[in-house]
Amino acid sequence: LPSQENIAFFNGQLLPERDVGISIRDRGFIYGDAVFDATRTFNGQTFKLREHVERLYNSLRYLRIDPGIDPAKMERWSLEVVNHNYPLLPPGQDMWVMQRISRGVESSEPGAESRPTVLIESHAIPFARRASLYRDGIRVVTPSVPRIPPRFVSPRAKTHNYLNLIMGELEVHETDPDAWAVLLDESGNLTEGKGSNIFLVKDGTVATPQGRFVLEGITRSAVLDLASGLSLPVAEEDLDLFDAYTADEAFLTSTSLCICPISSINGARIGDGKVPGPVTNQLMAAFSDMAGMDYVNQYLSHLPS
Ligand code: PMP
Repeated sequence: LPSQENIAFFNGQLLPERDVGISIRDRGFIYGDAVFDATRTFNGQTFKLREHVERLYNSLRYLRIDPGIDPAKMERWSLEVVNHNYPLLPPGQDMWVMQRISRGVESSEPGAESRPTVLIESHAIPFARRASLYRDGIRVVTPSVPRIPPRFVSPRAKTHNYLNLIMGELEVHETDPDAWAVLLDESGNLTEGKGSNIFLVKDGTVATPQGRFVLEGITRSAVLDLASGLSLPVAEEDLDLFDAYTADEAFLTSTSLCICPISSINGARIGDGKVPGPVTNQLMAAFSDMAGMDYVNQYLSHLPS
């Protein structure tokens, strides 16, 4: 294996990333018939890899795809990819580690079984592009396109079907290219963004939409646990735009963002508009402690000086 080039795990073996050749008839490409998950590193150490792999296998079961390798192997190969690729990153960086499994290559032969395509790859988190979010907060906008109802395609599975979330994002970016879309459901309740869960803080209670209606983020669960550990009341409940506009604080969570404060929702300033608010700040500090590094500082260190 080349020591100066990124490698990936592809269908049973490690190879240089540029030698990964996915078929033009792969069902992940032609139908989005695939699942994925994404872990990140902190200082090169993977974070909650086991939880991510567990969620990956639930997504696989939902789509009835057998990846042909067990979760322990999926974890082992993920670590191999990280251990090879992390030292190639510039100092101060960290990366995502993604597992992607599609149903495999579409076959025109009747009865032919397609073998799943299994890919594990890693790439750098865009710290510089996002650094200002930790200084200024995220502007969230709710697009007119509603989140797909759970009985159509469950949001609890992390599938390659992101078009609903992408349509929302496209709409929002039309008027504000730097805003982040969070979709409402058909009843007007907050759901989630293309890669993140949303939280509101009101009178000290840390609230987030119910797990049945969103991807149950690993970060979302971690934040609920941290909040409980700090004796903050938590709630998983329907939250609408009234709740959003009257919240004291709000933030997004995701594997790469961890906890990132929101400054406004649909232009309505959250709290006094200064970020992060006190509860968010407390949770961010607790998150850094858990991750073993000051992740906010890692982002801020990439601000242009
Ligand atoms: N919702 C969606 C649709 C996502 O893609 C993600 C990113 N995986 C999240 C929420 C946040 O989940 P996590 O904290 O596990 O990254």
